[in-house]
Amino acid sequence: MASHRLDLPSRCDICGKARSTRKHQVCSRIRQQRKADEWAELMAAQAEAKNNQPRRYAR
Ligand SMILES: [Zn+2]
Repeated sequence: MASHRLDLPSRCDICGKARSTRKHQVCSRIRQQRKADEWAELMAAQAEAKNNQPRRYAR
């Protein structure tokens, strides 16, 4: 197990402190909000791309 290296960073990517030192409820909330924003942006871009595509089966 010790030789197994995890990709997860031990530091919080929001506040930059070690995750084990403090509770990061606020940080996780911020992270979720960021992800939600990214997701919304992605979905909007996809929808736009779909709208811009010509309909192949329109006939
Ligand atoms: Zn944090």
